[in-house]
Amino acid sequence: MALNITSLVNGRLNRIDFEYIIESSEDNAIIPPKDVSFTAPIKVKGYVDGSQGFIELTVNASIDYRGSCARCLGDVFGTFVLDFNRTVVPFGTLQNELNDDYVIVKGGVLDIDRLIVEELLLEFPSRLLCKEECAGFCSSCGANLNVEQCDCPKLK
Ligand SMILES: [Zn+2]
Ligand SMILES: [Zn+2]
Repeated sequence: MALNITSLVNGRLNRIDFEYIIESSEDNAIIPPKDVSFTAPIKVKGYVDGSQGFIELTVNASIDYRGSCARCLGDVFGTFVLDFNRTVVPFGTLQNELNDDYVIVKGGVLDIDRLIVEELLLEFPSRLLCKEECAGFCSSCGANLNVEQCDCPKLK
């Protein structure tokens, strides 16, 4: 979504709230990690706040996923939630435009979809577990230790 924040920049508004969804598109593809599928679009909520003398973007994003457990290969379903903030600065005011702590706004329009998708894919867990205490497979006989015991000697 492209947010026009001109009224924040010139002080006429203190805060702009937003809530929308981001669907995967040609321009902004949401490509899940290997062995994961995203089962719904990204839900996004947040606001841009200018009341502190600078402009800050706050984002809360979530996405539903399906994947497989890194230990037992069982199905894992869940919702991954991501919260982050960025300071918004007008184009041309920074020495180094590549600093990731900032979002550059051009012509008063803040386009945050790509930022959110990148951040989400960066932070998405590289290993999913069906449950924290998943016992996985026995490394000797391959039994699924979540559902059965085996007689293999246990390594200490
Ligand atoms: Zn598991
Ligand atoms: Zn075993």
